[in-house]
Amino acid sequence: MIAKYAGIAPKGDLILLQKLGEIFREKSFLHINSTRAGGGVAEILQRMIPILRDLGIDARWEIIEGDERFFDITKKIHNALQGNFESITEEMWQYHYEVNKRNAKKLNLEADAVLIHDPQPAPLIEFKVQDYSESDIAPWLWRCHIDVSNPVQEVCDYLRRYCEKYDAAIFSVSKFARAMSIDEFIIPPSIDPLSEKNRDLTEDEIRETLEKYKIPADRPIMLQVSRFDRFKDPIGVIKAYRIVKKYNDCILVLAGSPASDDPEGEIVLNEVREYASNDPDVHILLLPPFSDRDINALQRSATVVLQKSLKEGFGLTVSEAMWKGKPVIGGATGGIPLQIVHGFTGFLVHTSEGAAFRARQFLNNPEMVKKMGERGKEYIRNNFLITRQIRDYLSVWYAIKNNEKSVLEL
Ligand code: UDP
Repeated sequence: MIAKYAGIAPKGDLILLQKLGEIFREKSFLHINSTRAGGGVAEILQRMIPILRDLGIDARWEIIEGDERFFDITKKIHNALQGNFESITEEMWQYHYEVNKRNAKKLNLEADAVLIHDPQPAPLIEFKVQDYSESDIAPWLWRCHIDVSNPVQEVCDYLRRYCEKYDAAIFSVSKFARAMSIDEFIIPPSIDPLSEKNRDLTEDEIRETLEKYKIPADRPIMLQVSRFDRFKDPIGVIKAYRIVKKYNDCILVLAGSPASDDPEGEIVLNEVREYASNDPDVHILLLPPFSDRDINALQRSATVVLQKSLKEGFGLTVSEAMWKGKPVIGGATGGIPLQIVHGFTGFLVHTSEGAAFRARQFLNNPEMVKKMGERGKEYIRNNFLITRQIRDYLSVWYAIKNNEKSVLEL
């Protein structure tokens, strides 16, 4: 499987991956998050687990289960960590803990390395199997995928009680690191160029998707793909489209699918539908989970791709579009500026007016789109492919396992 990435991913990453695979052959590597479908974390794990297994590592992926109350609480924690005021009561934290305790009883937590994704399963550290591996350190790592650059402090501090019990924390962007008492690593997410979401498509496949969703192909398409979440600013995207529409005839497509751990999706979707009112050129698509080929086709058919987030852990959709040679107009927030080099591989914006201005620049200048798109694809190749991310995870595992004393303490 790794051989399939030859000629696509940087060669150095593949050499290192092969070496690291030899080191960790037959070792078990457990990942836990809270949903199998919807959102960037599930997207990456779906692709990463088979590659790890192909490297000879015994990788497993488990999810924690919870009820509506649990996911309401964890969505509030998520919103607070991204800076929206939310009050999480002691009782809510207790419930968060209890649901994790129940999950810990059901799950097999024994592994040579454990990677826990995001706050939902963070309390699992309390149920770590002690002395799992007598001769070896079996690290427990906490992986934060959300934008914690400016969190509600109280919520962040409470969560920290769990996080600091881990051997290390991993963030996507350096400004998210929280000066914790444990080691912190920066590992941005990534996309898989060989997945159904990102592989090359034929013109027929692209046309089929447009026909299926009744999207006319006679005018340029502006597109944003994302969960219906206020941090993704779908309303701001419609505002930008309305400004553009005064000068350039175009179509807006907002595509999103539900995530089982995001209970707010439906409310936001209704807000968006209402705001769009009856404009026949605004297409709001609620796609079923695993609509990877359709997303791929939409990204390839768009002239202008937006990711106008107000807060963003990383924004896989940005890399996905750039991989398809589309320069992206992205909110200047979180992980988006890692991907978009302003004026070189796309544009960073702060407002709907800014997004509209840049969208018109793209619509009126196909040469610029082409050039930026080509550069963007190379930028993603060198920095944000899944082979690099697996290399980084295994390197952190290796470093912790072999680290009697941190270099900083030497
Ligand atoms: N996605 C999808 N269908 C949708 C909306 C999003 O498959 O209808 C995918 C999208 O292509 C990307 C992931 O979900 O791979 C979203 O990841 P991102 O990092 O952009 O945002 P998150 O949802 O994790 O905040």
